[in-house]
Amino acid sequence: MNILVINCGSSSLKFQVIDTDNGNVLAKGLCERIGIDGAITYENVRDKGGKVKQETQIEDHKKAISLVLDALTDPRGGVIRSLKEIGAVGHRIVHGGEKFTKSVVITDEVIAAIREVSDLAPLHNPANLTGIQACQALMPDTPMVAVFDTAFHQTMPPKAYMYAIPLHYYEDYKIRRYGFHGTSHAFVSREVAKYIGKDASELKTIVCHLGNGASVSAVQYGKCVDTSMGLTPLEGLIMGTRSGDLDPAVVDYIASKENTDAAGVLQILNKKSGVEGLSGGLSSDFRDLWKARNNGDKKAELALDAWAYRVAKYIGAYTAAMNGVDVIAFTAGVGENDSASRALVMQYLGYLGITLDEEANNVRGDIAEISTKDSKVRVFVFPTNEELAIAQETYELVK
Ligand code: AMP
Repeated sequence: MNILVINCGSSSLKFQVIDTDNGNVLAKGLCERIGIDGAITYENVRDKGGKVKQETQIEDHKKAISLVLDALTDPRGGVIRSLKEIGAVGHRIVHGGEKFTKSVVITDEVIAAIREVSDLAPLHNPANLTGIQACQALMPDTPMVAVFDTAFHQTMPPKAYMYAIPLHYYEDYKIRRYGFHGTSHAFVSREVAKYIGKDASELKTIVCHLGNGASVSAVQYGKCVDTSMGLTPLEGLIMGTRSGDLDPAVVDYIASKENTDAAGVLQILNKKSGVEGLSGGLSSDFRDLWKARNNGDKKAELALDAWAYRVAKYIGAYTAAMNGVDVIAFTAGVGENDSASRALVMQYLGYLGITLDEEANNVRGDIAEISTKDSKVRVFVFPTNEELAIAQETYELVK
């Protein structure tokens, strides 16, 4: 079945058409600067058509979806003859709160429930809803599925998801840890198990999703028992521009020194911190940081060392949480492509009986076992594929 996968941001919309019979991507692309001016980039992957970018006015998400559907059905570059060839649409939804523990077929009640938890992701959920409504307007007879970033982590026990703050904040406002990147953690933990001929229900797995945003999860016998992101994606690892864990008193302290408020500081912690902040504003991109480090830049060295140390600490914590670990998987932009950053993390894992296979680690964007044969824990590079995971979940619900 052909599934249209939609990932809608406030001013952008990413899309892919995936044939779930074989996992092949037929077409993909991106609408940018929606509501500002606009551009659509479209790639016919099936026929190796290359990327075509067209600047055009995109006043809202409905216009963006209509441009996407036009491109998909265009007699020249399109990959389908009519919209009837799209069996369903899978929408990535950032926050499902506690309501959604798995993907669901979208109904009016589901839309209302996504709106209800929008307080928890005020930048993302409204944009996701706009994408759903735009698709419904243009494809009223096509079933739609919501796939939540938070759903996979809903199996965390209260001891892992509760913050030690007055209980009524949880009861009244649902303040707790939710976790994100759930589709990726679910996909990688399941697929890496399959790859080694096991079922996820037999393994204790730590998934390190290390991209610009980054999180670690502890997946015990197929269920997430802990993950590093919290109420928002700010908690946990040092990321491209996010600080990750810090003493909350820092917020007030910076606010008073810099004459700003909590919202101003949170903006800095989300957008100007992480490896970019630590490197003195050099870059959030690990390629730039390694280049600088290899040229003797001490700030880049500090940023990468602190980043790796934090990842290693979480691996240690999650090994304790599960009383052991069988498999560690590195995924996402840095995890899949950056052998030097993986090696920095692996330096800390000797106590687990892990030795890095340096030759095997010299891999980019491919599945590879990067621990030596005699290691006690198997470590893998395992590319994530969130779009394929969304397409598969969608297919399972509508087939
Ligand atoms: P993601 O958020 O998963 O798309 O990851 C994006 C990040 O991956 C970028 O900011 C880069 O820091 C990193 N990245 C991508 N390709 C490479 C590469 N070849 N070497 C090192 N880092 C990379």
